[in-house]
Amino acid sequence: MHASAGGDLAALRERPAELLQRLIRFETVNPPGGERECVGWIESLLRDAGLETRIVAADEERPNLVARLRGRAESPPLLLQGHVDVVPVSDQNWTRPPFAGEEAGGFIWGRGALDMKGGVAMMIAAVLRARERGLEPRGDVLLCILSDEEAGSDNGARHLVAEHAELFDGVRYALGEFGGFTLNIVGRRFAPCGAASRNWRTGSARHWRCRYARCSCRRSPTGSSTRSANAA
Ligand SMILES: [Zn+2]
Repeated sequence: MHASAGGDLAALRERPAELLQRLIRFETVNPPGGERECVGWIESLLRDAGLETRIVAADEERPNLVARLRGRAESPPLLLQGHVDVVPVSDQNWTRPPFAGEEAGGFIWGRGALDMKGGVAMMIAAVLRARERGLEPRGDVLLCILSDEEAGSDNGARHLVAEHAELFDGVRYALGEFGGFTLNIVGRRFAPCGAASRNWRTGSARHWRCRYARCSCRRSPTGSSTRSANAA
């Protein structure tokens, strides 16, 4: 259904910034989303690298992808999850074209560069490198690429959890969307960190707790007021 990623593979696993540029060029504005081409391209990359992939879709134009890097079954699977849809750009002034993925001044520019194709690019590159280097982690690594995060998740995470929860059997830890971005404060670089415990079935946050010594966050029943910073 999708063309092979072919010779891209070696370059992209070593250059996640280029991977990000390619992701930005898929216009996945939600609504309507239309993530199929983007998710299909990611699948071709992972499949060409020899990873097991599975597409799960409530709407074939809005698929989700679950890929698995096999581990030694000595630890629970680790879930890496990220979405490839982005919020609209209409009626906004952009200094650079939002879907060109331009590199300028040491940055990649475009809609979704932060939220969250940058994170997705890092996850894909990490899994591709692990595969290339023959890494056999203690547990499986699941990479879940989601559609429809920005407008309700009915075709994305909500569908997966409601209809295909078995895909995540045994998962105890997950890395997902990042809650903050690098901050420069009084000449020092800070990386915000947050951790949450969630119920798989409902997705509701039970509590947030920062594990870092210099953090100012407090537990919050909703997580909405939680933000922490730790020197990087
Ligand atoms: Zn996001």
